[in-house]
Amino acid sequence: MVDGLSKLEQTSKRLELTTLLSSLFKSVGADELPYVVYLIQGKIYPDYKGVELGIAEKLVIRALKMVTGLDEMTIEKEIGKKGDLGIVAESLISKKKQAALLYQPLTIGRVYVTLDRMAKLSGAGSQSQKLSLFINLLNDCEPIEAKYLIRMAIGSLRLGVADYTVLDALAEAFLGSRDMRGSLETAYNVSGDLGLVAGNLVNGGLESVKKIGVELNRPIRPMLAERAKDIPEALKHMQNDFICEYKYDGERVQIHKEGELISIFSRRLENITVNYPDLVAISKKKIKPDVAIVEGEAVAIDKNSGQFYPFQELMHRRRKYEIDKAMAKYPVCLFLFDIMYLKGKSTLNLPLKERRELLRGSIEVGKMIKLTESLRSSELPRIERMMEDAIENGCEGIMIKDLKSVYRAGAREFSWIKIKREYKNELNDTMDLVVVGAFHGMGRRAGNYGTLLVAAYDEDADTFKTVTKIGTGFKDEDLDMFPKLLSKYVIDHRSARVDSNLKPDVWFEPSVVIEVQAQEITLSPIHTAGLDVVKKGSGLALRFPKFTGKVRDDKSAVDATTVKELVEMYYSQRKIRTG
Ligand code: AMP
Repeated sequence: MVDGLSKLEQTSKRLELTTLLSSLFKSVGADELPYVVYLIQGKIYPDYKGVELGIAEKLVIRALKMVTGLDEMTIEKEIGKKGDLGIVAESLISKKKQAALLYQPLTIGRVYVTLDRMAKLSGAGSQSQKLSLFINLLNDCEPIEAKYLIRMAIGSLRLGVADYTVLDALAEAFLGSRDMRGSLETAYNVSGDLGLVAGNLVNGGLESVKKIGVELNRPIRPMLAERAKDIPEALKHMQNDFICEYKYDGERVQIHKEGELISIFSRRLENITVNYPDLVAISKKKIKPDVAIVEGEAVAIDKNSGQFYPFQELMHRRRKYEIDKAMAKYPVCLFLFDIMYLKGKSTLNLPLKERRELLRGSIEVGKMIKLTESLRSSELPRIERMMEDAIENGCEGIMIKDLKSVYRAGAREFSWIKIKREYKNELNDTMDLVVVGAFHGMGRRAGNYGTLLVAAYDEDADTFKTVTKIGTGFKDEDLDMFPKLLSKYVIDHRSARVDSNLKPDVWFEPSVVIEVQAQEITLSPIHTAGLDVVKKGSGLALRFPKFTGKVRDDKSAVDATTVKELVEMYYSQRKIRTG
């Protein structure tokens, strides 16, 4: 094995890398092959198992000290000179004399099993157990073996072996040519486990590889979308009926349900179940079949208003500690868009139209679990409005999906097309807006307002034109304060001076002015401020609006930010290219 590793290390050519890897695969025993497949990528399991090798450099240095009899200073000095702990070990071990009698040659199996044991040790006394296991291995190492063993252990092997290189090399080694990769790829895409594919291939040939199917608690590699620059370009690719969906800006989650057991996997197939206790609870309750795999996007929302938070806020959920706190502060709503497995059967090969029906039948929709917002129309203006609506509501854009397409795990194809904006805007100003209506909250306190409908002042018409619903930035005190502050302005109909397409639960006489901050001003298919000014049929709206905490009681309604100012602000925003 070390021979193969040192050759791999010396090449920077992709094709040569594959050929060398293929020879390495052929040179090892059938039972060792899966181990080699994991180890050359610095792993002992596929990622979704969440078992990390993660052996600290400090432990390796202590082991080297014991094995070579040198003091830590000398070893540290060597590291200072050579930089790489593997190379240091190689040179130090070559200087030591082997204790021939006790020497047991290293095998791949022994290395793997020991590293596996080390990875799984935890708690009191685990450090010294790890140390003695590692010392045992190092004691039996040839110098060059020590170099690679240490690199594997501390995660610095870096041979540049990507998943597809492994598949190419497996095909070349056992199927005669790398052109045969495709026949391995399907199994890899549904299992995400290269070791499994390799093991089945070497022991049972292609027949056995083909038997690898969808399995619960083992993530499927997600289907990906191609990109189009705008809606007309996307539509050119759609030969069949299609559906448009919001493209939420959250985290993709693949949820496996097996009775009471829920596992959640990320787009990169990591097991992220611990980060989402709320999704676990809701999945148990609201995914109706006993056994299913569904997929969707988790989006952080304001718990009072239900409005989306920007993506960055969701990342607070990706933490190891204080998950309960993060969960309370950033609750998530799940928007489901696909189903891959239902009642013991894979649904990957069903057309999207059927999968969506199965999905709909499998979910009990609620406040925190929904199907993606969707539109079935091929009329360009309607799709354009949907795009504006999606962006205004904090989404990245829309997805257009071919309703006849099957779920191609791991593939990026034009049957799913994403359309994001080419530019987004950046706004640095705050605005003073007039409260003209309110919607009831979804939070704990019934009777409080969840979102306020606010407007800018149109000087020419002497009316107030709506520009956003705002539900973020309210502290508990604010939630108590607003109903009191607004109570004397409640009216049972829309004021004649208010111009609105939305119908809030409560109307107000325009009077109270609040300060609002927003990430950007976008076009809106709903709001009336600036209607037809920037674009025919569209008004202007705020994206990710937030109450700054200031009620402007020094201003009366007509002193609020005007529609004219809003239009100027729209044009003067900084344009930023989207990724
Ligand atoms: P991108 O990450 O830009 O390649 O966009 C693809 C990602 O969009 C997916 O991996 C999902 O996380 C996310 N997404 C949001 N909404 C949807 C949707 N309706 N259908 C599929 N993916 C979605």
